[in-house]
Amino acid sequence: MDRMVENGFLERVNAVRARVTVACRRAGRDPCQVSIVAVSKTFGPEEVAAVAACGLNVFGESRVQEAAQKIPLCPGHLEWHMVGHLQRNKVRAAVRLFRMIHSVDSLRLLEAIDAACEEVGCRLPVLLEVNVSGESSKFGLAPADVPAVLERSSALMRVSIVGLMTIPPFTEDPEGARPYFRRLRELREAWRESSGFDLPELSMGMSHDFEVAVEEGATLVRIGTAIFGVRRQQPRKGAAASEMTPAE
Ligand SMILES: *Cc1c(COP(=O)(O)O)cnc(C)c1O
Repeated sequence: MDRMVENGFLERVNAVRARVTVACRRAGRDPCQVSIVAVSKTFGPEEVAAVAACGLNVFGESRVQEAAQKIPLCPGHLEWHMVGHLQRNKVRAAVRLFRMIHSVDSLRLLEAIDAACEEVGCRLPVLLEVNVSGESSKFGLAPADVPAVLERSSALMRVSIVGLMTIPPFTEDPEGARPYFRRLRELREAWRESSGFDLPELSMGMSHDFEVAVEEGATLVRIGTAIFGVRRQQPRKGAAASEMTPAE
């Protein structure tokens, strides 16, 4: 990879960091409270290494198979998060590859992750993906179903639910996402009270709307395009609209 390309990465990473910092300031938050998850789907190990060289060390993938091929070729100190929809038949591979799963959208999946962790001998922090908008095209638990999952999870010894994740409907104006981010934070406050779970992490905000998400309390922003550039591959058929790169 030549210098020009690497410089491009540094510029983009620094721009994202600066925007996170400014959004934190607007909201009276400490920028240390926000982690950037660099979503590297469709990009290769060289690009991951170039972004890691800019000082980012948390990376996100949305498909287990792609991650399984890529991660062994990437710098070994990186922490990988699963941010995409996880099928139960991929759980055993996923618990070996990832340090956090953002996209737990059913009790059955949570139980499968717990069982796989037991087998592997690990523990895993996870987030519940909540479908705040109620759009049928979106993965995620209906808010009404979350309290029962939280309650059931106390019996699981290998997984801990450390927060919530959401993907808002796409709107041209990033401000359109604000009510969904705010709602997720409010739901978190309510469930914190009712369940006794602390739920410190809020995974919300992507390239298009992460500043709004930071203003609304995001602790993990999942950023692909703004760091890596426009994805080369088309999203697979049936991918959620929010996974697609606008204007490609
Ligand atoms: C691809 C993806 C992202 C990153 O999207 P960008 O718009 O490129 O920043 C974030 N979260 C999930 C779940 C994704 O699949």
